[in-house]
Amino acid sequence: MIELVGSTRKRRFGLDKRDRLPEFCRKCDVRFACQGECPRNRFLRTPDNNEEGLNYLCSGYRMFFQHIDRPMRSMAELLRHGRSAAEIMRI
Ligand code: SF4
Repeated sequence: MIELVGSTRKRRFGLDKRDRLPEFCRKCDVRFACQGECPRNRFLRTPDNNEEGLNYLCSGYRMFFQHIDRPMRSMAELLRHGRSAAEIMRI
């Protein structure tokens, strides 16, 4: 496992995953969570400047991450106060 994680090929994969993101992703407000997702799904062109490499699940990811933003922040706040994140269910 150590060999696999530290291999040049694996490292290249990780760097490519980051470095080949289109500008549309680099400016995205949910990039911290999505990161353009899996490179195998990046075969659309961006709506702003027709750049290659946009994930075909993009609109769904954006909707999902924006939808969970508020409850995730609430759960983080609960945990910061030593409470259970499961309390979100009552909220
Ligand atoms: S949600 Fe879309 S634009 Fe944002 S990082 Fe993911 S694939 Fe890129």
